[in-house]
Formats: sequence, C-alpha cells, structure tokens
Amino acid sequence: MASKNLSSIEILEKLISFPTISRTPNIELINWVSELLGSFGVKSTILRNEDGSRANLFATSSDTLEPGIMLSGHTDVVPTDGQNWHTNPFELKQSDGKLFGRGTADMKGFCASAIRIMCAASQNKLSTPLHLALSFDEEIGCIGVRSLIEMLKTSPVKPKMCIVGEPTLLAVASGHKGKIALQTTCKGIEGHSALAPLALNALHLGTDFVNIIREVQNEMINKGNEDNDYDVPYTTLHVGKMNGGVALNIVPNLCTIDWEIRNLANDSTETILTRVKELVELKLQEYKSPKAEIFWRETFSYPGLGTDINSEIINFVRSLTGTNNTIKVAFGTEGGLFHKEVGIPTVVCGPGSMLQGHKPNEFITVEQMDRCDLMMTNLLTSLK
Ligand SMILES: [Zn+2]
Repeated sequence: MASKNLSSIEILEKLISFPTISRTPNIELINWVSELLGSFGVKSTILRNEDGSRANLFATSSDTLEPGIMLSGHTDVVPTDGQNWHTNPFELKQSDGKLFGRGTADMKGFCASAIRIMCAASQNKLSTPLHLALSFDEEIGCIGVRSLIEMLKTSPVKPKMCIVGEPTLLAVASGHKGKIALQTTCKGIEGHSALAPLALNALHLGTDFVNIIREVQNEMINKGNEDNDYDVPYTTLHVGKMNGGVALNIVPNLCTIDWEIRNLANDSTETILTRVKELVELKLQEYKSPKAEIFWRETFSYPGLGTDINSEIINFVRSLTGTNNTIKVAFGTEGGLFHKEVGIPTVVCGPGSMLQGHKPNEFITVEQMDRCDLMMTNLLTSLK
C-alpha cells in the first residue's frame, strides 16, 4: 500500500468521523490508524477488549530495542447527548481559525499530530524511537488502558519517557491529583415509622457517614499535604450522591452514597480510607446493633502524577515547546498509571484547552494544531 503524507488536520478530520464515545466501539478508528502506520512500515500491536469492539494500540517507529519517547492519547470522547451543537459533532468543521468537533480538544487533536509524526519518524533513522500509545475508555476512569499497562510492565524494553497529550495549551504539566471513586452501602432495619425507634434507620447511618467524610476532609486540610499549584491545594473528599428511603411511613433499611477522594500524588488514599474506616467503626459501636452496617466498594481509581520539576523529562519537553514554566492540571490522566505502574517518567502536554473539553461546540484552534506539529517536529529533530 502506497503511503500518503496526511497533514495533522486531515488526520484529525478522519479521527473525528469515528463516533468513539466511551463504552462504544473504537475498533474502526484503531484499524484505520494501524493501516495508516502500516503503510509507512510501522507495525502496531492491537490489544482488544473481551468482545473485540474496543482496543488499545501500541506502535514503535522502528524495529529497535532502544527505549523511546512515548506519545500517549485516548481515542474515546464524552457523549454529546443533551448538548446544543451548531454542527454535526462527528464531522470536522473549520471556521474562523477553529476546528469544531467532539474530541478536537480532548484529545484527538494531539492524537492526530502524534500519528503524523509517527509516519514521519518511520522515514528517518532515529537513535531513539518514538512510541505511540492510543487507548479507549479513558473518560470513564482510565479503564481501557489497563491492558496496555500490563503489556508495558512485562515488555523487555520500556519507554524512557511519556508525553500524555491532554489539552494544556501546550504548557508542560508536571502533575495532577489522583482519584478513587467509591460507593458506600449503609444497612439498617426496616419498620413502621410509627415505631421508628424500634427499627434502624439507614439514612441515619448515611448522614453519620457523610459527617465522617467531612471530618476527614477537615483533617486533610489541617494535617495533609499542601500544593499551592492547585486551585484547591489539598486532597479533597466529596460526596456526590445519596440514595435512600421508599416512603415517609417506612423506616428505610438501605442508603447508598457515591463519593470520591481526589488526592495529591503524595497523600495516600489507603491511609485516608483506613482513617474513614476507623471513624466508621467507632460510630457503629454507638448503634449497639450488629445489624447496623456501613461498608464500601471501589468503583474505579487512578493514581495522581507528581513528576519532579527538576527531572530530565521536564527539561526535555520544555525545550520542545520553548517554555520555562510548568503547571499542574485539575483533571486526571493516564499519566499517573504510566508513572506509578510502569515507572515511566511522564508529563502532560497537549494542544487545545480543557475549557472546551466535554462541552458543545468543542474546538481546537488551527494555531494550536500548528504549534503541536512544531513541538513534534522539534521532538523528531532531537531524536535524530
Ligand atoms: Zn481527555
């Protein structure tokens, strides 16, 4: 197959045309990328999910065992339901220097630029190769990338650095918080409300639990770590949803609570959960009933990222973009997993702004795409 040099915007147009909403198939996009890379002689490893509808892709620009620089992006996008789009979200539309479409900023713009440079890299003799890592189901808790993480863990040669191209307007981000999402179940004993004190109200257990979360939040503010690079400089505990009760005249026997911890990379969620458990056990003793239960399960989690700002990767990526500063970002990325699970030094740096992410009429500017292409060209030059 004859290889064709596509521009990043042409690649972006194609990527946007695949409606790869999380939990829905991305395999056509992955196959298209694999074929394009293949036409340049670059082989892809495709890691499919159980039913084969979704997959991660990993490719290296040349047949070498040298550890390379990994460019990482997710291929899934958030849904468009209920959003007022002025154009078809899955058709790239350009106007006024902006490229509109679902995923342009978050983060197919970066993926397109990375795919272009992988094609270019295949035509160059590089002393250090480039790797491309594309994942699925990132938006629902960095779930899809796990098989890629497992592959990298056991691979004889691991990438020596990773750039996760989530939108930072090409600022170099050294970190983000981690997240653990949990659901707590509180069990009591049902009864007629006229005899309420003889039953055990699960909503009482639930509100006690919420108070414990707030107490531990205060402890984190007073005693936890602090990082003033974040708008909220400490680890947060947040309750997002509480469900319980059927009717006013029934004492409820069940209450569920969805909550989360967003931790600074150097605050341990394990320690925080141990503290919550300790307070829950104390509280349960007050109920004097073995039927009073509070327990939880993890829905998903990903670690925080905290790359040392004096490390080689920070200097390297700053030199590619021509900036001297670093930032930290509010949103999570797969970068924490690459660093914590595989030991790859990682930064977050990509075109576009998260202010446009997840919103109707999402866009990336042509200027940001051009600047990202320039960063990639600088990257290629530095690896020759
Ligand atoms: Zn993203």
